[in-house]
Amino acid sequence: MRMTAFEDVSLRALMLLCANDTGFPLATRTIADGIGTPYNHVSKAVLKLRELGFVEATRGRAGGVQVSEAGRRASVGDVLRALDTREDLADCETPNGDCPLRHQCTLRGALRRAREAFYQALDSVTVSSLPHEGQMGPVLVQIGVRPPA
Ligand code: SF4
Repeated sequence: MRMTAFEDVSLRALMLLCANDTGFPLATRTIADGIGTPYNHVSKAVLKLRELGFVEATRGRAGGVQVSEAGRRASVGDVLRALDTREDLADCETPNGDCPLRHQCTLRGALRRAREAFYQALDSVTVSSLPHEGQMGPVLVQIGVRPPA
């Protein structure tokens, strides 16, 4: 199953925030630089992660975004499930018309069960367990969160 670009950006932002061990929040612009994604995409992802309770944001000059306790405990499955608002994986119902095979379609149910199995496979992996020093150390230096060694 393929993640949407929005899900990918959201997970990357959350991973970077989990790796931020400075105790200070990160500006959205800094997160965007760290994960190599345009600011406006990251801004939307951060807003959604905040709505879902995975991050906390503070205002002001020293403000920014930090991972919440719920975000630290969240599994990849939790985050993807929360972000996935699609009723169906296929285009069963579209603004241009419904699929003609929709009546009592058994493929539809099978696809829903497959999606849930995909998320369940990721329920044992917390997002906070993913980032590691070899991966995030250079990124944190590059975005100026950590001084160069
Ligand atoms: S065949 Fe079934 S699963 Fe595929 S689009 Fe139509 S209703 Fe959806």
